[in-house]
Amino acid sequence: MESKEERAKIFIIDDEMININILVSFLRPNYRIVSAKSGLQALQRIQSHPLPDLILLDINMPDMSGYEVCEKLKGDIRTRDIPIIFVTSNSSEESETRGFEVGAVDYIVKPYHPSIVMARVKTHIELKRRGDMLERMAVLDGLTAIPNRRRFDQFLDYEWVRSLRYGHSFALLLMDIDYFKLFNDNYGHSEGDDVLRQVAGCIASSMPRTADLAARYGGEEFACILPETNKAGARIAAERVLQAIRALEIPHAFSKSAGHVTLSIGIASIIPTVKQRTLDLITMADQALYQAKQNGRNQAVCFEEPSTCEGETP
Ligand code: GH3
Ligand code: MG
Ligand code: MG
Repeated sequence: MESKEERAKIFIIDDEMININILVSFLRPNYRIVSAKSGLQALQRIQSHPLPDLILLDINMPDMSGYEVCEKLKGDIRTRDIPIIFVTSNSSEESETRGFEVGAVDYIVKPYHPSIVMARVKTHIELKRRGDMLERMAVLDGLTAIPNRRRFDQFLDYEWVRSLRYGHSFALLLMDIDYFKLFNDNYGHSEGDDVLRQVAGCIASSMPRTADLAARYGGEEFACILPETNKAGARIAAERVLQAIRALEIPHAFSKSAGHVTLSIGIASIIPTVKQRTLDLITMADQALYQAKQNGRNQAVCFEEPSTCEGETP
């Protein structure tokens, strides 16, 4: 049996309580149900709850029609992927066509057979869950199960725009495992993969703020985006990661910086301006990382203004 938490959630929107109650009577055993008696109430309520997996929507309602509610939900990035099924006594070809035009996935005419409604609901919830899973997988790294480069790029663009708008400082940590080629060469590639998993998990758990993102940037490189964080804050976070990785004490007898696996970290923090691009922040962090490697690895270096920075990457 599925636990209560795993059960899909259905949002029913109908101005007649009797209609809601009928749907609830046969859907309740298999689903979590929430409801609203008007479009306005639904639009408010949907934001304050965890999002539903499916919406059953009436068309004829006094304050706002189902079509309007549907259009509003489809126009909002947070709710646009929730499948909507119209449940209505409007059986004309015209209203059904309009229902699909405004973005519904299905259209059920009353009076209906409960078993048919249950079958359609089940199908659309399964499709939704499959879509959600694919979406999650598309942004996770297959080896380490932390966010991948694609997610990193999306998140960086998003946070960049936010920082630009609000004038916040914004930090990036670029991390690279030290002497990892020598680790692979001596212990084997699959041991190397194990290290990548452990390091990824350790970095992710060293970033407890929910606003932060830790991602696999490439091969043995990781990156953390720290919104609303200045240099001092970023340095504290970087030291915490370095310490957590050292504490794993993964033996690496061939490392020239320590007897165990270590990281080097490049830190950059800026308040973005319209003249800059995300690539500028990455370049700064990359230069600082290069400096950390030059300084002997197993350390974090913060990017300073170009005049004081010796490292020039091609
Ligand atoms: P440095 O301290 O200068 O960073 O030296 P390094 O040896 O870590 O750097 P280098 O760029 O020479 O080597 C990176 C190594 O990372 C080589 C490559 O085999 C390894 N690597 C990259 N991706 C993976 C992976 O998915 N699995 C494993 N096992 N190794 C990987
Ligand atoms: Mg590297
Ligand atoms: Mg390396």
